[in-house]
Amino acid sequence: MDNHRNREEIKEAITLGEGFSIRKSKTLGLNYAYYALRFKNINNEFYILRTSGDYSKQLYQLKLFSGILIIFFLILNFSVHFFYKNYIKRDFYNKINKMKTFLIHGEKLNSKTLKDEAWLLEFWNVLKEWQHINLENIASLDIERKILNNVITSVDSFIGLIDENGDFIIKNDSLDYLILKGKDKYLEAVKYIEIVNIIKESLSTKKNISKEVYILPIKEYFIVSVKNIKNENRFLITIKNITKTKKTIEFQKKFINNVGHELKTPLTNIKGYLIALEDAPENMKGEFLETVNHNVNKLENIISDFLNISKIENYPSLNLRVFSVEDLEKSLRKSLHMIILNKNAKVSFNVQNGLINIVSDFEKLNTILKNLVENSILYNNSKIPHSEIFLKESYTHYVLEIKDNGIGIPRNKLNKIFDRFYRVDKARTTNLGGTGLGLSIVKALVEQLNGEISVISEENKGSTFKIEIKK
Ligand code: ADP
Repeated sequence: MDNHRNREEIKEAITLGEGFSIRKSKTLGLNYAYYALRFKNINNEFYILRTSGDYSKQLYQLKLFSGILIIFFLILNFSVHFFYKNYIKRDFYNKINKMKTFLIHGEKLNSKTLKDEAWLLEFWNVLKEWQHINLENIASLDIERKILNNVITSVDSFIGLIDENGDFIIKNDSLDYLILKGKDKYLEAVKYIEIVNIIKESLSTKKNISKEVYILPIKEYFIVSVKNIKNENRFLITIKNITKTKKTIEFQKKFINNVGHELKTPLTNIKGYLIALEDAPENMKGEFLETVNHNVNKLENIISDFLNISKIENYPSLNLRVFSVEDLEKSLRKSLHMIILNKNAKVSFNVQNGLINIVSDFEKLNTILKNLVENSILYNNSKIPHSEIFLKESYTHYVLEIKDNGIGIPRNKLNKIFDRFYRVDKARTTNLGGTGLGLSIVKALVEQLNGEISVISEENKGSTFKIEIKK
């Protein structure tokens, strides 16, 4: 029929030989399935045969079937999931438990238990290797920490690291008279405001600061430096006591000044008398020459004292040996011969019974005694200057005393006479050759011999110097 020509299945059958379609029938209002087939008859004429059937029932059955199928698969899916979840959970639980037992017992766990769990052994080996590396790292960190600690504690300057709140992270115990131990905050630990102010300034400005401070109550100089360790927001504080260095520099300046001064006086005298000598009357020439000679001697004395000082400072080593008291006396008398003669002096030796030999540095002891006896004769207005040397020993010490009947030393000057270049009063003595170095040389030598020197004196009566040297 012509009105069927446009139907989908007919069109398909014309072109492809067969056609199929499902659609709502306009006449019946139900879903119908149509199938069309094209064929030729024996006369070579084309026919298309079409059949149709109610599809709604099949569709309903199909939908029902699909619904059942979906529900079935959903249930299957859930049960498989549920089962698998529990299975995995149990498996994990077992594995974790095995791992736990293994970690507790380690390799001691018998190999039967591990038969199916070779991975545990592998895991264990990796763990062991890892642990080994960790232990090595910890050990080397520990060594580094110890070295760092030793370095920090062995320096004689204060070193401390604080955080931005001013709490100490690390610090050494040096200079504990400035920084109290056991305090965590720098504000509580640092004793002096001068140092606190420097740290405060660096903390607030975040700048590196290095300043010299003088702490009046303890009369010492320090260099305080605070460095901002930028990336870590920490501040490194170092404090160094520079009092000694400062004093040495000051002393060296003073020393050079004094040397120049001491040399200038005799040199000017020599120069003046030599010029005067040219025009001097014959009878005065002897006196002038005598003065020149005296000043040359003084120069010699000064230079010898300077050389002695530098020798003591540069060669502080001791040359200990056994020598007899007799030899010491002989050598001393020899070096004092001229002065004893000129001053009409008397030097007596009083040695403890049985003390024959001494173990010490012969040269140094000789220089000490020579200087002290020389002074006892020079600073002496008695007709017969008398210098008595007493020598005795105890189990631990040698004790020497040099007693004179000289002019004595004023009480308020006693603590100064061992200072370099110190002379009590130039007017009260005829000793023009003095440099004020003799007693400082004596003190330095006594200290090198591990001894101590002290003096008692009374003006116009005399002085006694006492030396105690450890055996
Ligand atoms: P110098 O003798 O070269 O002046 P010293 O250092 O030996 O220097 O002595 C320092 C000062 O101590 C002397 O100037 C002197 O006034 C005083 N002095 C030292 N020994 C005696 C002494 N035995 N009696 C009195 N005064 C002394």
